Amino acid sequence: MKILIDNGHGQNTPGKRSPDMTFYEWKFNRKIAIPLVEELKKRGYDAERIVTEDALDVTLSERVRRVNAWCNKLGRKNVILVSVHANAAGNGGWYNARGFSVFCAKVASDASHRLAQSLYDAAEARGLKGNRSVPKDRYWEANFTIIARTNCPAVLTENLFYDNKEDLAILKSEEGKKKIVDLHVEGIINYLNSLS
Ligand SMILES: [Zn+2]
Repeated sequence: MKILIDNGHGQNTPGKRSPDMTFYEWKFNRKIAIPLVEELKKRGYDAERIVTEDALDVTLSERVRRVNAWCNKLGRKNVILVSVHANAAGNGGWYNARGFSVFCAKVASDASHRLAQSLYDAAEARGLKGNRSVPKDRYWEANFTIIARTNCPAVLTENLFYDNKEDLAILKSEEGKKKIVDLHVEGIINYLNSLS
């Protein structure tokens, strides 16, 4: 099983920063994705990032192409994709919304749904539910390109809100980042164990 991790956005993606300009989403996504891949490898899993470039925002179609190349090579059942992001409730200013969410495409495989639920459960277990209502099935649905056009089980995590002051403090703390890495490690491994 090949575990692909996408760290969303690049240095030149417009917006995607906290209102006080102390947090850039592209940097944060890498601060999660890099130790996540390391931790999975340490535990014997075959994991890698699909975007190692920093300076450029590698286009969504190129990201999709890289994932689907692995699907073609290994078979789509032998690949999973997790795209790592942080959320914003608005476009500038501070907002109330807090918490973790995980998205599947509107038409998604049962495997995608189970992977999403496993990640949600690991986030909730770490106290990251936040203050919004959670869908009955514990995943949200949206046709984000990276999950809608890739051929393997694919989910996108939105790790707290960087335009909420309390969530931002968690996102910037070492303890908070470790929790977010750990929930991905646990969510992915629990999902893989459920397959066998
Ligand atoms: Zn994002």
